[in-house]
Amino acid sequence: MRAQCLEMSIPNGSTYRIYLSRGLLDGVGEKTASLVAGRKALIVSDANVAPHYLERVCGSFARGGFEVAHEVVAAGEASKCLENASRLWDACARCGLGRDGVVVALGGGVVGDLAGFVAATWLRGVACVQVPTTLLAMVDSSIGGKTALDIDAGKNLVGAFAQPVLVACDFETLATLPEAEWANGFAEIAKSAVIEGGGFYEWLAAHAEGLRGRDYTVVQGAVARSLVFKGRVVAADEREGGVRECLNYGHTFAHALEAAAGLGTVSHGRAVAEGMRFAARLGTEAAGVTESFVAQQAALLDALGLRALDAAWPADELFARMAFDKKARGGMLRFVFATAPGIWQTMTVDADLVKIHLILWEQGVG
Ligand code: ADP
Ligand code: ZN
Repeated sequence: MRAQCLEMSIPNGSTYRIYLSRGLLDGVGEKTASLVAGRKALIVSDANVAPHYLERVCGSFARGGFEVAHEVVAAGEASKCLENASRLWDACARCGLGRDGVVVALGGGVVGDLAGFVAATWLRGVACVQVPTTLLAMVDSSIGGKTALDIDAGKNLVGAFAQPVLVACDFETLATLPEAEWANGFAEIAKSAVIEGGGFYEWLAAHAEGLRGRDYTVVQGAVARSLVFKGRVVAADEREGGVRECLNYGHTFAHALEAAAGLGTVSHGRAVAEGMRFAARLGTEAAGVTESFVAQQAALLDALGLRALDAAWPADELFARMAFDKKARGGMLRFVFATAPGIWQTMTVDADLVKIHLILWEQGVG
């Protein structure tokens, strides 16, 4: 598959490029050299990713004329903490990274959020290059400019909006991605296709087997389509507040399930897929979703290997988690419903109806 380059517009009127290809790790430093004036780079990675790819990225930045420093944090969500941010600020200070320097995130969403936050805050903001190495990070964090840290009170509560100067999605890095991590990306791609509808949905339905089988031409196609979709949503949201809500499809349920099951027990992707199934079934009563759409969506998720969960968690616990969710308002819960591919709406739903469906879900009949 040939290399692709997407140009993303950002709120301040400028743009940045997302490169999609194989072998980008060896060229990302040279590409960055034409975008920043400085020649100091701090490359941040995690303990799983660094052994595979850090050397190549360091080499590429060195060839681009950069003086390179690197820091490796532990793998896992716990690394998105203030202690690590502080450690990385110290590293910026040690290598004399000035306003014209660059911080490079080489890893999944955790490294992207952490390094992005450090770039957004060091000297009140320096350039950041994102090199996502998970399918989820490629489709999810390349657009939107979110960076974040977790604190005891919750995930992603501290952060800043900061757009990268460049994103390089090198599909070669997915060769070492653990099996379970693929599902996280598949679920967000399926979500995007259902919300976008039209060509994307039909394309994914036709290529689900290829994606699941990691045919890289299909993987690149799915990432590109997801990025175009998300870029459009984010751009539309600036004009028409609230459009971005569609990205939460499946997520009200997913966040409650992830929290109830205990962090890390059910992966985000499996939880989102289950949340999409739940939203569709709840929607048959709340939003006019047809049984045929419920089945159509289930078939797509099945084809991607995102089977329905065979374990359930107590309905009352899930309900309590949903009611605490920031989107809950006075006895009503807010959901995104898709009634057909490409047709979606947000609606508040009576708490009792949600409870009934959670009980049906727990009993494995709905
Ligand atoms: P996500 O991108 O899903 O938000 P993480 O950054 O935690 O989340 O990445 C998921 C896990 O996969 C982590 O354990 C991370 O170290 C590991 N990982 C990320 N990219 C790769 C890769 N290309 N090869 C091997 N392991 C990877
Ligand atoms: Zn998600």
